Amino acid sequence: MKMRCMCLVLHAPNDLRLDERDAGPMAPNQVLVKVAMGGICGSDLHYYKHGGFGTIRIQEPMILGHEVAGTVSEIGAEVTHLKVGDRVAVNPSRPCWNCRYCHEGLPNQCLDMRYYGSAMRNPHIQGAFRNALVCDEAQCFKVAAGVPMSMAALAEPFSVGLHAIQRAGSLIGKKVLVSGCGPIGALVVAAAKLHGAAEIVATDVMDQPLAVVKKLGASQTINVAADKDWVQRYNANKGSFDVMIECSGNEQAIRSGLEVMRPRGIVVQLGLGGEVSLQQNLIVAKELSITGSFRFHAEFELAVKIINERWMDLSPLVTQTFAMKNAKEAFDLAGDRSQAMKVLIDFEAVA
Ligand code: ZN
Repeated sequence: MKMRCMCLVLHAPNDLRLDERDAGPMAPNQVLVKVAMGGICGSDLHYYKHGGFGTIRIQEPMILGHEVAGTVSEIGAEVTHLKVGDRVAVNPSRPCWNCRYCHEGLPNQCLDMRYYGSAMRNPHIQGAFRNALVCDEAQCFKVAAGVPMSMAALAEPFSVGLHAIQRAGSLIGKKVLVSGCGPIGALVVAAAKLHGAAEIVATDVMDQPLAVVKKLGASQTINVAADKDWVQRYNANKGSFDVMIECSGNEQAIRSGLEVMRPRGIVVQLGLGGEVSLQQNLIVAKELSITGSFRFHAEFELAVKIINERWMDLSPLVTQTFAMKNAKEAFDLAGDRSQAMKVLIDFEAVA
């Protein structure tokens, strides 16, 4: 019997439709997950609004989405660790396990990555915003009883934040600057708090996201659009911060950050932007290290563990939830930073 499912398919910019498609086939090592919740990511929004980003554009209809959690409803013959009824968070990262970087233990750098909802390859890799998803058993991580699916759906963006912290090294007792407080920046703040940062200063150009990061562990928040003198308060004696995690991709954010970093500080660039101009002499004279952070892999399991064991309450991040049939409304709102942080889609809501 063919399995059918309802999918959120982007046909062109601003043309998001609810289409019926085949869910299968299902291999012996795979399971069918009845998707419960999915989080809208910045990349989904770029596809929705502009058809892509940089040189990447959708060439064919593509199911969006990669941040999902749901319940196992069928299992393949070779599945050993999951049973029907298990609630799981689904890791959308699917490295090939065959290329040189996978063999070196760097699956996030895989040369043949098949990340859900990505137009970087042709044909595109279809996404996970559908009410039934066939995936590998190895992609599924069990969600503990009583943990809401809305929290399990945060495992993927939280993994991105945890990976950025891993790139920074130990944060115990450190003074950390987080610039750009969208959902990823907010989860970086939470991850930094969990990793023992002594002080976390978070910056953004809007008050609404800053109010959310206060609840996720920021010691102090600064609206850098309103508070023009903030750099002067932190740049005395060659700077104040041991670590900066730059989540905005904005040139001014990283330039200001370099001014307030202490000598030998570590800057992790997580936000994607374009070409920026940096103060080379500051990097040299303060002996700063600048490192990138891209995707994640092993951190997904840790993210689910932290969510399952409730090390921190991430619920302030979720600002709205919409039924699948109202997905267009959800996408329109998710782009409005004055109202929304993480917007979820409920794939089971019937109303
Ligand atoms: Zn690979």
